[in-house]
Amino acid sequence: MAYEVRDWKAPGCSLTLKTDKLSDRETFSAEINEKYGEGGGLNANYRTVEALALAANLLGEEGLKYGQDFVFKTSGLDEIILDFADKDKLGQADIIISDYLFKKANNRKPQGTKKPAIKCLLCGAEMKLETYDTTSYFQCQQDETHRMSLSEWSDFQHGGESKEKVRKAMLERRTNLQAQLIQK
Ligand SMILES: [Zn+2]
Repeated sequence: MAYEVRDWKAPGCSLTLKTDKLSDRETFSAEINEKYGEGGGLNANYRTVEALALAANLLGEEGLKYGQDFVFKTSGLDEIILDFADKDKLGQADIIISDYLFKKANNRKPQGTKKPAIKCLLCGAEMKLETYDTTSYFQCQQDETHRMSLSEWSDFQHGGESKEKVRKAMLERRTNLQAQLIQK
């Protein structure tokens, strides 16, 4: 089934990844062409395919399942595009991949991404990834009314004006959560 012609599950939940950041593999394989002839070459280049395998494996290690939480949409020039079931999964994937690329770029051995170091925008304390019902969000470890959704985290990563927007959204949520706590 061709996913690229329509949105998969939810519109606007695509993530574009640069293949040369994920994979160091050459785009062609002289060795395979020699052994299997030109027909053994992929139309999609080798780096694209390896980048997809890497991305799917990274997401899988963190509990995102292929075909359920995300699918391969299409590939462009030096990029692959994945489609996610919803904004929450997209935010989660953005965190996992960003964290992996950051570690790779800094020559750190990429390993589990379960503890991305994220500081609370309101008080600077550490935030931890928590799940309530089926929704994941970042919870401040100092104040239970400081919370950031994954899509907000994703917006925040893109910088600029969105940083202030995310802070405002967190302040509004704090007011709501404070009210809920008083009622209890
Ligand atoms: Zn906080």
